[in-house]
Amino acid sequence: MRLGFHMPVAGGLLGAVRASAELGLGCLQIFSGNPRSWSSKPLDPTLAAEFALEARRKGLKPVAVHAPYLINLASPDEALWNKSVEALAEQLLRARALGAAAVVVHAGSRGRQEPARGLARVATGVERALKLAGKGAACWLENTCGGGTQVGSTLEELAELLRLLAGLEVAACLDTAHAWGAGYRLDGERWVRAFLGEVERTLGLERVALWHLNDTIHPLGSRRDEHQHLGRGRLGRAGVRALVSEPRLRGAALVMETPADPPQGRLGDLALARGLAARGASWPARG
Ligand SMILES: [Zn+2]
Ligand SMILES: [Zn+2]
Repeated sequence: MRLGFHMPVAGGLLGAVRASAELGLGCLQIFSGNPRSWSSKPLDPTLAAEFALEARRKGLKPVAVHAPYLINLASPDEALWNKSVEALAEQLLRARALGAAAVVVHAGSRGRQEPARGLARVATGVERALKLAGKGAACWLENTCGGGTQVGSTLEELAELLRLLAGLEVAACLDTAHAWGAGYRLDGERWVRAFLGEVERTLGLERVALWHLNDTIHPLGSRRDEHQHLGRGRLGRAGVRALVSEPRLRGAALVMETPADPPQGRLGDLALARGLAARGASWPARG
């Protein structure tokens, strides 16, 4: 299991790699620009190449770029949809320049469209963005908590999106806090085991390229999303322990998107995840 953080890049792109290496982490997620803006200043190619090299040297795998939140690939509004496709294509190009494996993106909100129409729209948008950007970085669709008319809150919807995009560089990213918000229990071993069984039946574990390991403050099925430090939210220590000691996640990459402020809180997240993983590994195997 490779743990990583979504690292801030306010201190420079290379700072995110260094901070990860200092903590002995195995993967990394960043924003490549301002996550709440449509336009980001162009990446300095030299700096981007340096980032790619450093990340490779430090063994960070994968490196993922999280797309800005304004992107809505399910939107019924033609102008917003077009803008979203272009923005995703730009993110894919930036990811490629940074040597990142993929862009993680939320599918978006479908508004008044039928669910199937919303899914089709997302698939067309992702396909077009991948075509615009050319080869080099994949698109990983992240599950959402399903607030409003958000697409992709169920494993079935994600599986349908992957089916519509078969043959393209597309995979899933599963966020534990979002899954909980969408109604999937994860607060103990039997629930985590059942959830992974469902992932196997719908998506296939091999198509989950990345996990987001987060706790949350909101109740199960609340369709609300606010991350909490590991073990201090609704998933609690039991949920985190079950996730980090789950044998089927042994080869997985897990990025923590817990609050970055204060920094000590995150050190606690890492210590807890590592501690519980180590204890879990020594447990007897169960049938
Ligand atoms: Zn996300
Ligand atoms: Zn996430």
